[in-house]
Formats: sequence, structure tokens, C-alpha cells
Amino acid sequence: MSPHTLKIQDAFDEPACERNRNKDPKARKKGCSKPLIPGATAGGCSFDGAKIVLQPITDVAHLIHAPLACEGNSWDNRGAASSGPTLWRTSFTTDLTELDIVMGHSERKLFKAIREIKEAYAPAAIFVYATCVTAMIGDDIEAVCKRAAEKFAIPVVPVNAPGFAGSKNLGNKLAGEVLLDHVIGTVEPDDPGHHDINILGEFNLSGEFWLVKPLLDRLDIRVRACIPGDARYLQVASAHRARAAMMVCSTALINLARKMEERWDIPFFEGSFYGISATSEALRRIAELLVMKGADTELLNRTEALVVEEEERAWKRLEVYRPRLEGKRVLLNTGGVKSWSVVQSLMEIGMEIVGTSVKKSTADDKERIKQILKDENHLYESVAPRELYSMLSEQKADIMLSGGRTQFIALKAKMPWLDINQERHHAYAGYDGMVQLARQIDLAIHNPIWAQVREPAPWEQAMTTEEKLEDRTASASNFAGETAGDDC
Ligand code: SF4
Repeated sequence: MSPHTLKIQDAFDEPACERNRNKDPKARKKGCSKPLIPGATAGGCSFDGAKIVLQPITDVAHLIHAPLACEGNSWDNRGAASSGPTLWRTSFTTDLTELDIVMGHSERKLFKAIREIKEAYAPAAIFVYATCVTAMIGDDIEAVCKRAAEKFAIPVVPVNAPGFAGSKNLGNKLAGEVLLDHVIGTVEPDDPGHHDINILGEFNLSGEFWLVKPLLDRLDIRVRACIPGDARYLQVASAHRARAAMMVCSTALINLARKMEERWDIPFFEGSFYGISATSEALRRIAELLVMKGADTELLNRTEALVVEEEERAWKRLEVYRPRLEGKRVLLNTGGVKSWSVVQSLMEIGMEIVGTSVKKSTADDKERIKQILKDENHLYESVAPRELYSMLSEQKADIMLSGGRTQFIALKAKMPWLDINQERHHAYAGYDGMVQLARQIDLAIHNPIWAQVREPAPWEQAMTTEEKLEDRTASASNFAGETAGDDC
């Protein structure tokens, strides 16, 4: 069995994942990917998943060893933000042609591209991504990266997650393995401290981690590495010296969190920064883990004081929105955003959840949602766009929160919609993020445009009730055969 096949099997065997633990050994080997239904949209490939996890490391040059389309498909499709370097957003690809492949020039071209990037940009490191074509023609990117690293005296990291290996989620996990094999632990920091933590699976979408970091700063808690959002290569390379870790997106990097605990004794917990109580809970858990690992116990008191102060301030700011949002019904189709904490945060401000997708939630997440909602009828594994459209056009919800792929369902039903997935333009993390979320929902629901677009068009005024019903059924059937999934 090839080392790469072993790596993939290892990624599927995840003892920290409850769903995986409950399977028998044979089922575990098959992994979690479900075969696609013909006509369903597939989401990203493994290469895309690996790139999503690694690209936000901002001072690294990300070189895609492939024909041009792979980079075109995956470049910068999320709103991760950087507080410094912009190199990560520069698109590098070997842009292989048929001639390169037929003539066997591709490895040489890769080596040359690494040299050009090093000379022109002097990056902290270069990550080289294998893709379907370069893996199928048998390019040995490990050997090329090793040779280039020696020759140019710079870390050159092979990312072996070609698209055909599996799903986007597998790619996320393989990216975690790449960091474990080639990056984390390669640099010893000269300033390790008792208050150092890692945040794993936080992508800093729309810069939302910057709403949380000031809270940690006030507690003298240092983020040694936030992986991957707004990360620097050296921070990731020295992440093994953190005392504790918080895992934000469990489906993406659970293997990284578990293996860092095994290798470097870094305890971790799974938490969320969405919502007031979830943020407070996360801060408390971070403080508890640090104290467990040797920090002074007064950190617990300082954390409690900060939580009380910040909660009070946030509730005060929310006062203006609560009467306007109280009792409004929300339909959630959140993809990978932590659905349980979004559910909890919306209920905190008095909104009612009429339905939430749990397709990409872990078993633990689903259990949490059931407990919060106290009714599992509002959970759905997958819902056809036609049904979403019907729910919205029949006004069973006042707003839909989802990702960009499903926005047109809401807009066609003439109902308010708010982007809550990776392309969102507002930051919703922490206490200030919760206030921002309430503000954006308020703006969306009370936008005067809805009254105008719901007015019947001149040609509709003469329609009979039967004709209107027929028109609505025809609109719903436009969505037939699609899936309502959203990226995460
Ligand atoms: S790696 Fe393969 S599946 Fe992914 S974009 Fe490239 S060709 Fe397509």
C-alpha cells in the first residue's frame, strides 16, 4: 500500500470523532464520504479542501502544480483576512500544458517555478500542491520539494491531496497532516509562556477573529498560532509550544487537534465564538485549560470579571434590536458554520428557529441542537431547494440565513436573506460580532424593498388565484433536481 493511501486511511480513522468511533473497523476504512447522487453538486475536491485550510497562512507562496483550471477553481473563494502580508492571495501555478505532460517536463517546470518564486518574492515558505493531473502522471512532488528546499534554503512543503483522493473534507484533514509532517515543531520559539494557546480551525472570515483577539489580549493570553486564519509560517512552525488549544471547526481539523495533544501534550476543547454565551464559555474553557497546565489561578477570576463586563455591554447594545427581532422566525441553512452556536445565539435574542440544516454538523453538534431546540422536527439532514422555496414563499419563515448558493431561492421567494457562510462581508464572532449579527438581521428583515417587490406586477394584477398558484408551482419547479447544500 502506498504511503499516500495509508495517509488517507489514517485520516479516516479518527478516534476523536464520535461518529467514527462508533463504526466497526470495516465501515471505518470506507471513510465518511457518501457517493454522490447523479445531478447533485459535488462541492470541492480534496485539493480544494487542502487549499482552503492552508491558503490563509499569509506569508507563504501557494504554488499549484497543475494545468491552469485547478487554481482558477480554487483561488481565494473565501473571505479570510490578513493583518499583514498579501502574498497568500497571489496566484501561483505551474500552468502545465499538454506538451509539458507528453514531453515529461512537469517536474522540471515545478523546480523552475519554485526558484522564480523564491527569487522574486522571498516568501517565508512555499507550499506545493499536487492535483489530479500531476498525481496521475506520477510527479514526485516530495522529491522535488526536498531538493528545492536544500538548494534554495527555504521550507518547501509538499501538499499531497490531489482532487481524486476524495472530498473537500478529506482535503481539510490531509492539510492538517501536512502541517504535522512538515511544519509544526520545526521551529523552537525563544519566548514560550504559560498563557500561550492555539486556535485551530478558525479562518478569520471577514476578519472576525480580530473581534475575539482583543479579549484574549486583555487576559494576557497569547495566541501562539491561529491555524489557519491570518497565520504566519513561523507561528505555525512553533505552535507545538502552546499550552492549550481551542478547536473551532471540528470537521476540518480534528485530526490536527488530537495529534497535537498526543505528540506535544496540548489539551484541547471544541468551542465557538458565535453568540454571547458561547463566547463566554469559550473564554472560561481556555482559562481553565491554561490553569490546568500551570498558569496562575487568578486567570480564572480575571476571565470571569471580563465575561461579566462584556456580557453586560453586549446586552445593552442589543436592547435596540431585541424588540424588533423578538419572535421573528429564522430558517437556517448554514453549511459548516457552527449551526448549534448560531441556533443558540439567535434564540438568545428572542428569535424562533423554524428549521436548521445539520448536513455538515458532527454527531455532537446535532445532539446540542436537539437539546437547545427541544424539538428534533426542526432539524433536517438535507432539504431540496424546492422545499426551501415553498417554506419561504408560504411565509413560514421571516428570513433565511445561508450561504451564497441558496440566496436566490430566498430572493425569488421575495424574502429577506443574510449570508452567514464563508463569503459573508460582516464579522459575527465574539460579543461585538453578535451585535453586528443582530443589526444585519434587522436591516435585512426591515428593508423597505420587500414591501415594494411583493407588490403584484402589473401583469399579475389581472391573474386569477389558480393562475397565481400555477405560477408559484412553476417557480418552485425551477429548483428541481438541485441540492441546497452550502460550502463550509
Ligand atoms: S485537483 Fe482534480 S478535481 Fe480538483 S480542481 Fe484539479 S482537476 Fe479538478
